[in-house]
Amino acid sequence: MPEQHRGSCLCGEVSYEIRGALRPVVACHCRQCQKTSGSYVMASQCQAADLVIIGESLKWFTSSETAERGFCGTCGSNLFWRRFGKDYVSIFAGGLDLPTGLVLESQIHCESKGDYYSLPEVQQVEQSQLN
Ligand SMILES: [Zn+2]
Ligand SMILES: [Zn+2]
Repeated sequence: MPEQHRGSCLCGEVSYEIRGALRPVVACHCRQCQKTSGSYVMASQCQAADLVIIGESLKWFTSSETAERGFCGTCGSNLFWRRFGKDYVSIFAGGLDLPTGLVLESQIHCESKGDYYSLPEVQQVEQSQLN
């Protein structure tokens, strides 16, 4: 059976299916993730062509010159991150239905982490090493 995952926002107006493989989870400690999520994010990733979004309330916010963030316009859940011109989408792991079968494998932007928590015990890598 081909790999398939589902997920949704908090209110359920946005749901999605991923009809393909998901990358292991990466934690990101950058300031943008802190601001949008309330702490830090943990995200998987899939090929853009494998992601099917269901519902009308998804909004995209241009968060930098190179990327945008997808969230539910009704409940505000952070769902996706994608870099302009690339064929992959990061999927914030908290939106995925359980069990995900995924494992947190690495983390990025540790230098800008919040001072109120400890880093998880996984390898630290550069964002450029991921894609
Ligand atoms: Zn919602
Ligand atoms: Zn980040």
